[in-house]
Amino acid sequence: MTADTRDTYEDIRNGVRALCADFQGEYWRELDRERAYPTEFVDTMTRNGYLAVLIPEEYGGSGLGIKAAMAILEEVHKSGGNAAACHAQMYTMGTVLRHGSDDQKETYLPKIASGELRLQAFGVTEPSSGSDATRIRTMAVKDGGSYRVTGQKVWTSRAQHSDLMLLLARTSPREDQEKRHHGLSVFLVDMREVASAGLTIRPIRTMINHAATEVFFDDLKIPADSLIGEEGEGFRYILDGMNAERILISAECVGDARWFIERAADYARNREVFDRPIGQNQGIQFPMARAYAQTEAAALMLEKAADLFDTGEPCGAEANMAKMLTSEAAGAAAEMCIQTHGGYGFAEEYDVERKFRENRLYQVAPISTNMILAYLGEHILDLPRSY
Ligand SMILES: Cc1cc2nc3c(=O)[nH]c(=O)nc-3n(C[C@H](O)[C@H](O)[C@H](O)COP(=O)(O)OP(=O)(O)OC[C@H]3O[C@@H](n4cnc5c(N)ncnc54)[C@H](O)[C@@H]3O)c2cc1C
Repeated sequence: MTADTRDTYEDIRNGVRALCADFQGEYWRELDRERAYPTEFVDTMTRNGYLAVLIPEEYGGSGLGIKAAMAILEEVHKSGGNAAACHAQMYTMGTVLRHGSDDQKETYLPKIASGELRLQAFGVTEPSSGSDATRIRTMAVKDGGSYRVTGQKVWTSRAQHSDLMLLLARTSPREDQEKRHHGLSVFLVDMREVASAGLTIRPIRTMINHAATEVFFDDLKIPADSLIGEEGEGFRYILDGMNAERILISAECVGDARWFIERAADYARNREVFDRPIGQNQGIQFPMARAYAQTEAAALMLEKAADLFDTGEPCGAEANMAKMLTSEAAGAAAEMCIQTHGGYGFAEEYDVERKFRENRLYQVAPISTNMILAYLGEHILDLPRSY
């Protein structure tokens, strides 16, 4: 283990904890009621440089590894907050950083680092393709110095709170490809420039406050230099970005799990029924201990995935396992926490029901558990492809 991998980023953690102390439960509850965007929180995170930790110093970021970003997101979630409104600003730029041209990097990365440009919309999922990203139908057709984009995305988070969108689109028909993931390309779409010319964004109200939208492209004209890397190679480009996303969302799950466990233990020590603290009952204590063990084990898998990611080694299996195990551990902790609180778990003011809803997403998005199991079955266990 190198010194860096042992670093637990205590300075960063302390800074994030202090910042989150100004954004307590009441702040999140009010926004949740209105399904409103946490602008003040996101601005504060941006001003303090927390969303630019992964951007190299030459482009104005801190140039830190993924574990620093994990520490930030874990602390936000452990404080009872929700970083989903801004986590994508940290990692979506990875595709530009790794596969963009020098010109694209110099144009966009410093502005993303300062927060002048928000790149936190990532358009992959479509209504008809769902988990099978190779079947997306949104087409980008080259037309001189432009591409013309037609199609639809669904569940594009934060599109209304982002200046740029990383868009996956087909540039050649699936039938013409040797491999199904060929013929897909990635574009960096400047939504400020095209908002009134063929781009429509509609919010979707969901059980959580997540700024989810559907996005329609109606012969939208974008400059040809919006293309990242080579045409047809887009699927490969977004895959390594997806590992970063899975690792960082796992850190949020660990933060959530620790919040649920701490809240539940605190409540169980103090709530007395039948003349004794409810935590004295094994029916209350054991699910808590189990959730704790699950969380700590999942956090170790997450560390492994992060170590591999930071040293540039393949980490697809580990990032996927971390995402599955941490989201399930957080799910178990959420279930335990609401049960421990009895009726009060359903009262808004305890924040348990809100966190319960918010965390549930992570067993479905950004990739649902079944797809992770299918990946492990096929690529690690060498079983026939099941999908
Ligand atoms: C709040 C929210 C925010 C999101 N944000 C974004 C975003 O910013 N950008 C973006 O591109 N997407 C986003 N998504 C989409 C998310 O990634 C997808 O919902 C998810 O990948 C699943 O796709 P689907 O909803 O079409 O489900 P489907 O693909 O229809 O799957 C439905 C169920 O069937 C299971 N299933 C499907 N096929 C198989 C199989 N072969 N074997 C076993 N089980 C299978 C799935 O695991 C799942 O449980 C978001 C979703 C939500 C809810």
